[in-house]
Amino acid sequence: MASKPLVHRGSSSWWSGTFTTLCGQKFPLKGSKNPWFTNPRCPACEAIHRANGGK
Ligand SMILES: [Zn+2]
Repeated sequence: MASKPLVHRGSSSWWSGTFTTLCGQKFPLKGSKNPWFTNPRCPACEAIHRANGGK
């Protein structure tokens, strides 16, 4: 599971240096290389995003 990163939706908290996803995970922003465009999307985040009225 952990070896297959997903693209999560969420918000970056630059003041605390973490990225909080809609599905409740937190990642450090520090040192991240932006893998967000090459990995499959997180189905949990997508479902929550759509439920919130997102496109
Ligand atoms: Zn997610």
